[in-house]
Amino acid sequence: AEEQLRQAQKMQALGQLTGGIAHDFNNLLTVIQGSADMLQRPGLAEDRRKRFADAIVEAASRAAALTSQLLAFARRQPLKPEVIDVNQMIAGMTELLDRALGERVIVETALVAEACTVEADRAQLVSAVLNIAVNARDAMPEGGTLRIATERREGEHSPMIALSVSDTGSGMDAATIERAMEPFFTTKAAGKGTGLGLSQVYGFASQSGGDLRIESTPGHGTRVTILLPGSDRASAAEQERRTVTGGDRT
Ligand code: ADP
Repeated sequence: AEEQLRQAQKMQALGQLTGGIAHDFNNLLTVIQGSADMLQRPGLAEDRRKRFADAIVEAASRAAALTSQLLAFARRQPLKPEVIDVNQMIAGMTELLDRALGERVIVETALVAEACTVEADRAQLVSAVLNIAVNARDAMPEGGTLRIATERREGEHSPMIALSVSDTGSGMDAATIERAMEPFFTTKAAGKGTGLGLSQVYGFASQSGGDLRIESTPGHGTRVTILLPGSDRASAAEQERRTVTGGDRT
């Protein structure tokens, strides 16, 4: 029954995805076709000519962005889980984040002292954090603080590792939170957002046995939390350290 439910959910997501693509593409094609038609009219004033040409370029570049996101989506490699110390991973990402978010965003970390070990696909976890961080930056056009925190929480069956990214940006109203993880849902301007970021992150988290949570207050900020099942297997680096110090005698 669970397998059936999963299958049904997959089909629903797929339907939503293809419906969304068709809709978006149609809109873009309509813009391109309409503008090209206008351009063919003789005696068009120079300023209108430029407006239509600009509209074509913009719609085409949005379509290109959409296809490249879709290709990335379709090309998604099967997950290759490995043991990751989330604290270490985040500590190793701060430089990348500083560069990606620009100088108006201050990046802070609050990493718990306890081990936060998960088994997940490293590349996907890194890109999930980047995705969420870039959304946070976009919500703080005047700048602000991005805070990445880790925490161990008791889960139903096993401890869960919570990796949360908070911003001091625009926040989301309840209707936006509700739809934020839907494929193709975006409130960003044409060419700026594809609406695939959070749906991808959600897909990754749930495939890894975890979940994605959004808490937000309009005008104050947002916290997005990736929950992943904790692993008691030590990471390769940790094992190495234990071997070197000879501390692991259990
Ligand atoms: P995209 O970033 O391409 O719009 P996402 O799936 O990543 O697609 O996000 C969907 C929508 O959720 C965004 O358009 C925005 O409205 C909202 N959102 C996501 N993260 C944040 C955030 N940190 N603050 C405010 N709104 C956000």
